[in-house]
Amino acid sequence: MRKKLIAGNWKMHLVPVEARALIAAIRAEIDHDAAALAKDRDVMVAPPDILIPAVAQALAGSSILLGAQNMHYEDKGAFTGEVSPPMLNAYGVTHVIAGHSERRHIFHETDELINRKVLAALKHRMAPILCVGETQDEHDSGRALDVVLDQLRRGLENVGDDQVTAVAIAYEPVWAIGTGRNATPDQAESVHAAIRSAILQRYGPERASAVRIIYGGSVNADNVDSLVSKPDIDGALVGGASLKADSFARIVRARTR
Ligand code: PEP
Repeated sequence: MRKKLIAGNWKMHLVPVEARALIAAIRAEIDHDAAALAKDRDVMVAPPDILIPAVAQALAGSSILLGAQNMHYEDKGAFTGEVSPPMLNAYGVTHVIAGHSERRHIFHETDELINRKVLAALKHRMAPILCVGETQDEHDSGRALDVVLDQLRRGLENVGDDQVTAVAIAYEPVWAIGTGRNATPDQAESVHAAIRSAILQRYGPERASAVRIIYGGSVNADNVDSLVSKPDIDGALVGGASLKADSFARIVRARTR
């Protein structure tokens, strides 16, 4: 049985005092039944890098995991403005988002660069969340699956048989991110099933059935149940709705069947 993964991506929001208050409010909502929730789901938040120390402190004693939104692939060096895997490790970061569509489209990250980040996260024992997803144009012209499966193949280049189950894939159709327009559960499920089948072809059935494939794109308290109760949708990557404790807590409690 795959555990669900509910991950909040805070993007470039909040200052330390607000971040601490948000964590306190989320904990007030979910800490009392954290043990029950932890049986079948992991919960993670990914603040901006500069908030990671404050959030790590605010999460002390909680089962909520700490993620990063991005990372450089080298351990150290002359890379002004970048953050390295050991820097994230030092604060207990367990997950790193790689290839979010905002990184791909605003900052022009390539599949090759994203793959290096995936490999670096694995090398440092952090779980990459590899994001894939088609643009509106690619969707409208019927190329969604080709695009997604190509991003998947390139993102997983040189990821070994013994490593792949540590990777989570996030299917995030670009046209659904921050737009209030989510893929229908059936639409998302069919892409998730195709992703799993591509992983199966490359890594075999056992590993394919262990890899988590989560959905992102305007997930909210009202649509989360119908999405994560689909057989191949193993959780959610949540942007806007992760910035409010009540909506994030409701998403964390999603009905999964
Ligand atoms: C995201 O940031 O990955 C995302 C899916 O954002 P939103 O939930 O706001 O669409």
